[in-house]
Amino acid sequence: MKFNTKAIHGGQKPDPAYGAVMPPIYQTTTYVQTSPGEHKGYAYSRSHNPTRNALENAFASIENGNFGLAFGSGLAAIDAILKLLKSGDEVISTNDLYGGTYRLFTKIFENFGIKFHFVGMENVSTIENYVNANTKLIWVETPTNPMLNIIDIKATAAIAKKHNVLLAVDNTFATPYLQQPLDLGADIVMHSATKYLGGHSDVVMGGLVVKDKDLADKLYFIQNASGAICGPQDSFLVLRGIKTLHLRMQRHCENGKAIATYLAKHPKVENVYWPGFENHPNHDIAKAQMRDFGGMVSFTTKGNNYNEAIKLVEKLKVFTLAESLGGVESLAGHPASMTHASIPKEEREKIGVVDSLIRLSVGIEDASDLIADLEQALG
Ligand SMILES: *Cc1c(COP(=O)(O)O)cnc(C)c1O
Repeated sequence: MKFNTKAIHGGQKPDPAYGAVMPPIYQTTTYVQTSPGEHKGYAYSRSHNPTRNALENAFASIENGNFGLAFGSGLAAIDAILKLLKSGDEVISTNDLYGGTYRLFTKIFENFGIKFHFVGMENVSTIENYVNANTKLIWVETPTNPMLNIIDIKATAAIAKKHNVLLAVDNTFATPYLQQPLDLGADIVMHSATKYLGGHSDVVMGGLVVKDKDLADKLYFIQNASGAICGPQDSFLVLRGIKTLHLRMQRHCENGKAIATYLAKHPKVENVYWPGFENHPNHDIAKAQMRDFGGMVSFTTKGNNYNEAIKLVEKLKVFTLAESLGGVESLAGHPASMTHASIPKEEREKIGVVDSLIRLSVGIEDASDLIADLEQALG
């Protein structure tokens, strides 16, 4: 099956009870047993729920994996991966990282004796400098947030294989419409389904997909033992979201390109970060591993003035000033005062998060309305 068909049908079959085409929302905690231990495969909804299982099958299908797992949030999904490790283990992670992931690694898992190395991975060979006998996991986020750097998944997977280390890829920004990390050699794909998979800014959810049965069993054990599952209503909404993922992504990409191209020509704009530009430092890798370049665009303005950047985002009318991304509506954020405010100025500037940086999650509205909105705000 091709991707567009999988988005709609992947892992799905009509409900066995009454033939409902959409999996019903099985709002139940428990299931009848005819004799102790005898049931239809469902005993308790932390362990299994038919609506969640339908979504988990859809996750596996669109990522070309064999096993999917759904969690109460993207961070709960990452938390489950880290629980594969034990005290003394080391992780090599992308440095330009989603802030919540960085917080989970450094404020929670460092306390349990896990050591993290945050590394610029645009040059993949750097990763090997940090590999040692304790290295158990390489954590990649690509495109990165908010600088939209691209990391070569295939080359990173080769390093992971060589050293017998797990490779996990946060595929939230790209979605499986643009790139399928398992096919490029990753062991685990992680999603904040809160973003593009859900797609309508109405659910917080996380997901994991793997190919390997042993790894799936271990992650399932953690999902059930730690209990960070999502509910059936949310599972239903994300299943519905996935059915239009390919259509939405196509428009996100078209609009992203239109906005990036417009901004690059604007006299008040200094830099535009978008992997589709031929002069983007990792454009060739983006072209090789992604189908298109996505709907995320970041830019800075000339003079790099903090207050002017804040005024600009306040003036936007079609773009909503808000955290998050990946919904049908366009959002704008000012990382220096929002997502990255807790990082000291010198630290954030090292990775490019300067005072005037603005991050756009370009939605699926009419591109001309989005451009007109930026035009008036920049004017
Ligand atoms: C939002 C996000 C997360 C965290 O997901 P939640 O659903 O908010 O817990 C992780 N990684 C990336 C890239 C994200 O954008």
